[in-house]
Amino acid sequence: MGMNRSKEGREEKPVQDIKALSLQELIDVFKAWGESAFHARQVYAWIYKKKEFDFGRMSDLSQPLREKLAGAFVSGTLEVKEHLVSVDGTEKFLFGLQDRHLIEGVVIPAEGRITGCISTQAGCRFSCRFCASGLLGFQRNLKVSEMLDEVLLMSSRCRHKRLTHLVFMGSGEPLDNYDNLMKTIRVANSASALGIGARRITISTCGIIPGIAKLAREGLQVELSVSLHAPDDKTRSALMPVNRIYPVRELIACCRRYVQETKRQVTFEYVLIKGVNSDLQKAGQLSTILRGFDCKVNLIPVNPVPELGVQPPGKLEILLFKDALVKAGIQVTLRKPRGQDVTAACGQLRLRCAQKTRKAS
Ligand code: SAH
Repeated sequence: MGMNRSKEGREEKPVQDIKALSLQELIDVFKAWGESAFHARQVYAWIYKKKEFDFGRMSDLSQPLREKLAGAFVSGTLEVKEHLVSVDGTEKFLFGLQDRHLIEGVVIPAEGRITGCISTQAGCRFSCRFCASGLLGFQRNLKVSEMLDEVLLMSSRCRHKRLTHLVFMGSGEPLDNYDNLMKTIRVANSASALGIGARRITISTCGIIPGIAKLAREGLQVELSVSLHAPDDKTRSALMPVNRIYPVRELIACCRRYVQETKRQVTFEYVLIKGVNSDLQKAGQLSTILRGFDCKVNLIPVNPVPELGVQPPGKLEILLFKDALVKAGIQVTLRKPRGQDVTAACGQLRLRCAQKTRKAS
């Protein structure tokens, strides 16, 4: 729980966020303080059930205990920089981290669900050609407390005042921040914290094979989405440099093993990009590599990112692609574009803001 010392040697505020601790770890701290586990549970409930981060306002705790907490922990380090609401109900949040990096979160209400889309890293090191998140490079992994802050702030500030589902599909690669991701999911999942069922939590990966293999052994009932985007190595490597390390055939084999081991399904995300991966030949190749695999394919017409020059195909081409997969017996869904009026593609809000700041300085 390191203290920061300023240049004058004065002790500054401690840096540990209380959300870095599981309930058991908090109980251990309280016991070491000579306080009861019951009070630790009260604090946990204030944070996760009542979304109250200010120790001073935890009114059923004694004043000395509130002061002790405020002296030992911080709670909540994210700052909401922008909050935009789309005409279709999608809400975008731009968050500032303490070291001034920016991340985005999105709330998507649809079909009786309110889904929070969570970022796992500031920036991204995987540089997919169609994605705005990698454009500013990689800054750092998000801490457990920062990811939980995204969840808590979005659930308390969004119009619906709660989130029913979480998708780790914001900026960054979840499996590249594996341990923090697992800890975040366990807190989100735990009944004493957020109580979001594991089946309502989705991890989306660009296809990190060792991460998928490790996830299979966690015994978590989470949903797994794999960003495939092309059925052959040439196209996929051009779109996603990570394919040079984890190529298509090995990735699909790993996903098949994942399904066998976990008895869970896998969803393949396939972003349709005009002139790149959306013709019928690609649909045929995709059907071939997924033959006999009980999986889903989610087609996503690419959100145009002007900086990257990607465009979605026309309606007819999209429907023909979908039809070819359906005819091959594959379960297919077609994602509707959401929140277009409040900064189109994921990652663009942050990109615009960072560009503005750069110009200004
Ligand atoms: N790194 C993870 C999670 C973040 S990306 C992953 O790759 O899955 C979340 C999803 O958004 C991925 O399927 C990604 O390919 C998709 N995506 C990225 N840029 C997009 C764009 N411009 N239009 C539509 N989907 C995009």
